[in-house]
Amino acid sequence: MSKKYVCEPFRIKMVEPLPILSREERLTNIKIAKYNLFNLHSTDVTIDLLTDSGTNAMSDAQWAGVMIADESYAGAKSYYHLTQNAKDIFGYEFIQPVHQGRAAEKVLLPILLGPKKYAIANTFFDTTRAHVELTGARCIDCIVPEALEISTFAPFKGNMDLEKLEETILTLKPENIGLITMTITNNSCGGQPVSMENMRQTSEIAHRYHIPLMIDAARYAENAYFVQQREPEWKSASIRTIVKTMFSYADVFTMSAKKDAIVNMGGLIGIKNDANLYQKLMVNTISYEGYITYGGMSGRDLEALAIGLKEGLQQEFLEYRIGQVEYLASRLDEANIPYQKPAGGHGVFIDAKALLPHIPANQFPAQALAIELYIEAGIRSCDVGSLLLGNDPDTKEQLVAPFEFTRLAIPRRVYTQSHLDVIVDALIEIKNRRDSIRGYKIVKEAPVLRHFTIELEPIA
Ligand SMILES: *Cc1c(COP(=O)(O)O)cnc(C)c1O
Repeated sequence: MSKKYVCEPFRIKMVEPLPILSREERLTNIKIAKYNLFNLHSTDVTIDLLTDSGTNAMSDAQWAGVMIADESYAGAKSYYHLTQNAKDIFGYEFIQPVHQGRAAEKVLLPILLGPKKYAIANTFFDTTRAHVELTGARCIDCIVPEALEISTFAPFKGNMDLEKLEETILTLKPENIGLITMTITNNSCGGQPVSMENMRQTSEIAHRYHIPLMIDAARYAENAYFVQQREPEWKSASIRTIVKTMFSYADVFTMSAKKDAIVNMGGLIGIKNDANLYQKLMVNTISYEGYITYGGMSGRDLEALAIGLKEGLQQEFLEYRIGQVEYLASRLDEANIPYQKPAGGHGVFIDAKALLPHIPANQFPAQALAIELYIEAGIRSCDVGSLLLGNDPDTKEQLVAPFEFTRLAIPRRVYTQSHLDVIVDALIEIKNRRDSIRGYKIVKEAPVLRHFTIELEPIA
């Protein structure tokens, strides 16, 4: 039996019509899009699960904030509202707004890293990896082995492999490690959480070797909810207490506010107490983003973010949010559709390798499934597998990803239970005719980040 759906803790005041297309129209559209879902116009998509980033619905309070926001260049009241709320939540002395997550990375990482340095993470998100590499440093992932066992439940598949972390530090020498990063939740391995205990031990190792610890905080609220639900010591702690404790173990954070802070654009940098680092950060912020009291954001974005930060931490909201994803996963269980177990915070990662075993990695089973979801019901998802991974930079050979996931990312406060049912029904239809689904070959690709612009064609 499927899990009981957690009722939305809000009602709908404004609606946005969804385009409903015929199957023939969808077949034409995906062909014109060269079988790349990024090329689809959003007006041709019925349910858009491409990402949960910046696609959230703001509340009446946030829209009211947009109207009363302060657009002053310097010293705007919306800046003080935002930084005060963030200081209360995270317990950090310095908070810097920036326009999105990768801007936070661009401003902060060159101060901490450079050529011949290494950065170690549970798993780097792709923009974070890119900004580490742009400084001349190199990235190393230390994910726990259970993350690779897709069909086995483990409560904290996002955790750092502590043994591998310490081994790596000792092999490369502590003075060469510029940064340790903890991505919460761990986006790239399926939105899987990191436990408080793992965070504590990672912090202990980092500080023993005098290496700064950074949190990549895009989905910190979802992570806190998982800690409360799955780590017995934290069962009766509030989300706020869990967040403050988690951040107390790190020294700095970068955040894409387009996720758990429920806005359409925004980012933050936090520095716990290093005034010297904040001085350097202000210089980079002014060069790349704008004056420190707006950091590349308009006053209305600062104000919406000040409010969204608090809304994203509400217990009832998180119960509904995670409950919605768990409902979707439980319906997949009933239909025997394989996915990374347990479901992540921000969505479900369907195991396309298991669902379409006849399509090899170099014919992109996760992309093939994403294309079928669009043809079947106008649903837009994305490939998190070999298509995303790309080619070896030296040999130019296609790399084989450890997973072939089709990611269904769920925007916050946007879709209802019946939309989720449409998604599962479409997957069941696809599963029933899976033997007839073919793989794809590449017709045209860019040398880096190819998935955004790639052109494909079905294999005859
Ligand atoms: C989205 C994301 C980023 C990058 O943020 P943008 O706002 O898209 O620039 C960095 N890290 C993680 C974990 C993310 O999910």
